[in-house]
Amino acid sequence: MSLFGATGSIGEQTVELLLRAGGAEAFGVVALTGGRNLARLADMARALRAEIAVCAEPSDLAELRARLAGSGIEAAAGPDAIAEAADRPADWVMSAIVGAAGLVPGFRALRHGATLALANKESLVTAGPLLMAEAARHGARILPVDSEHSAIFQALVGEDIAAVERIILTASGGALRDWPLEALAKATVAEALAHPNWAMGQRITIDSASMFNKALEVIETREFFGVAPDQIEVIVHPESLIHSMVGFRDGAIMAHLGAPDMRHSIGYALNWPERAELPVARLDLAQIATLSFRAPDLQRYPALRLAREVMARRGLAGAAFTAAKEVALDHFLAGEIGFMDMSAVVETVLEGLNRDFGTNSAIMTLEDVQGMDHLARMRAGEIARARAGER
Ligand code: NAD
Ligand code: MG
Repeated sequence: MSLFGATGSIGEQTVELLLRAGGAEAFGVVALTGGRNLARLADMARALRAEIAVCAEPSDLAELRARLAGSGIEAAAGPDAIAEAADRPADWVMSAIVGAAGLVPGFRALRHGATLALANKESLVTAGPLLMAEAARHGARILPVDSEHSAIFQALVGEDIAAVERIILTASGGALRDWPLEALAKATVAEALAHPNWAMGQRITIDSASMFNKALEVIETREFFGVAPDQIEVIVHPESLIHSMVGFRDGAIMAHLGAPDMRHSIGYALNWPERAELPVARLDLAQIATLSFRAPDLQRYPALRLAREVMARRGLAGAAFTAAKEVALDHFLAGEIGFMDMSAVVETVLEGLNRDFGTNSAIMTLEDVQGMDHLARMRAGEIARARAGER
C-alpha cells in the first residue's frame, strides 16, 4: 500500500490504524508522502518500513535523506517525485493530500488497478468524469473516505442505485452556524476554526464554516454516485451523528450513524469489503436523546448555491470552483479578505470564466483541468487582492 498526504490529519489517522493492525508486519508499505514535516514523515516511514518517502519541496530533499540515513528507505522530493511514487504498484492507496495537488497522484495510482481510498474530494470535483473513466479502464476501485460518502456507500451495499430517490448529506453547519448573519463578514480565522464536532485539518475546518466543504461534497456525490443534482439535498444536523442518508423510491431512508471520528470511514475503506474492529466510540443513544435538523440558509452559505451552478455547467467548472476556493481561502487565512468575501471571490471567478468560455467547456484531459486550475487561480488572486485593497 501507499499513503499520499501521510503527515496530515487523515494520513495520521490512517497510519494509526495501520500500526494498530500490525504495521510493517501486516502491510507491505511502498510509498509515504508528506509536505514539509520531514521529521514526522521520516518517523512514519521507519515505523512502517516504507520503500520510499517523498516530501513536497525539492529543497527539503537533503534533510529528508539525512533523516532516513541508515534505514535503507529511499528519499525523493517534489511534485514529480510524488507522481512517480504513485506509479509504483500498490494494492491499496490512500489519497489524502489536501487540495488540487492530490489529483495527479490519485489518477496515476488508478493506472495499476489499485483500490484508491479517496479522501481528496477535490479530485472528483475537478476531474470526476476522467477519474471514474480511468478507474473503469484499469479495473481499479475507488472507495470514498469522506464520512458522508462512506456513509452513503455503506447505505447502498446490496442496493440498486436505480432505486435511489435522493441522497441527503448532513452538515454540522461549522463553527459559525449560530452567529447572526450580519456578524459573519467580520469572523476571524480563529473563530472559523473552532469546529464544534470534528477535529480536521485547518483548511477543511474553515471550509466547514463556510460550507465550501459541503459544496464540494455535493459535487463529489454527483460525480461518485452518478445521481442527478436535484437528487442531492443538504440538511444541517448540528450533532454530526448521522453521517448521511439515502432515500429510496419506496420512501425508506437508510441513515448511517456513528461517532464523528474519521477513523471509522478510513477503517471501512481499509478493511472493505469486510468490517473489522475499530477504535471509535460507541454511541449511547439514550444519553444522546435527541437529534436535530434544520434547512441550510443559502444567504449564510452561498457556497451551496454555487455548487448547483457548478453542477449545471459541469465540464471544467469544478476545476475553476476548487481552484478559486483554494485561493480565496489562502487570502482569508492571511487575514487579507473577510469570511464572506471568499464566496464573493469564487462567484466572480465563475461568472468571468463562464462569460469568456461559455458553458460548454468540456473536460477532455488532465491538462485541460490543470489549465483551468491555473487560470482560475490567477483570476481569483486578482479579485481577492482587489477586495483586500477595498477593506
Ligand atoms: P491536512 O492539511 O491535515 O493534510 C494534508 C496532507 O497533504 C499533509 O500530509 C500535507 O503535508 C500534504 N500536502 C499539502 N499540500 C501538499 C502539496 N502541495 N503537495 C504534496 N503534499 C501536500 O489535510 P486533511 O484534513 O488530512 O485533508 C486531506 C484531504 O482529506 C482533503 O482533501 C480533505 O478535504 C479530505 N478530508 C479530510 C477530512 C478530515 O477529517 N481531516 C475529512 C474528510 C475529507
Ligand atoms: Mg465530509
